[in-house]
Amino acid sequence: MSAPKRFLVKNISEETVLCGEEFNHAKNVLRLSEGSEVTLFDGNGAEYGAVITKIGKSEMILHTVRKGISERDPKADMYLLVGALKGDKTELVVQKATELGVRKIGVFSSKYCSAYMNENKFSRLNRVAAEASKQCFRASVPEIFYFDSLEKAVLSAEGYGDKLFACEFISESEKEIGEIGKSVALIVGSEGGFTREEFEFAKGQGFQGVTLGKRILRAETAAIAFLSVAAYFTGELK
Ligand code: SAM
Repeated sequence: MSAPKRFLVKNISEETVLCGEEFNHAKNVLRLSEGSEVTLFDGNGAEYGAVITKIGKSEMILHTVRKGISERDPKADMYLLVGALKGDKTELVVQKATELGVRKIGVFSSKYCSAYMNENKFSRLNRVAAEASKQCFRASVPEIFYFDSLEKAVLSAEGYGDKLFACEFISESEKEIGEIGKSVALIVGSEGGFTREEFEFAKGQGFQGVTLGKRILRAETAAIAFLSVAAYFTGELK
């Protein structure tokens, strides 16, 4: 038997109303009927088993039957900061980062960054994070932030136990990724990469440079590879 279908609802109570896109998906795409069992999650880590009790034209009512504990939510506290990427590459990174277990994602602009951000793109990133959380069985959806400079992005990582900066122009890492703890902030640049001043600024705020090898990786490859290795060492891939 396949796992119950999952729906993201901000306010879950004993009788929960499902409307909008989630309602449409449940009724018209999945064709769920009254009596079907589903899972509701609130995006903040809470998950509930529920039964559809009434289906109307524009909403359905679900009766919450039990509170579940999401075993699949990230235990480590990983924060990915990534330069805004061209086309739909930022969405790709947000999707993969969600699956790999980040709790927070910061997208930033920097000196050599040529992609821009607007309200539509930002909403789309949040939708991608919600969709990916649903698909990978997380009960929490990563928070997404936008910073209009690298400096603001760097400052937003204050308090993390380890702070690593993927730097394309260093040949030796200042910290081994294998030595990180469970609280870590990671910075990866956009297609244009970083200036030396940006790297120095981040170092002044406690970031340590990391090389990802001899080859220059595309920004999205670098983000996913860097995060995958960090996720492994924080225990999120076990
Ligand atoms: N435009 C830059 C250049 O010509 O050297 C390359 C930027 S690279 C496409 C985008 C980002 O991926 C970099 O800013 C860095 O964060 C990361 N990156 C790519 N390859 C890397 C490597 N070998 N070591 C560390 N970081 C790397």
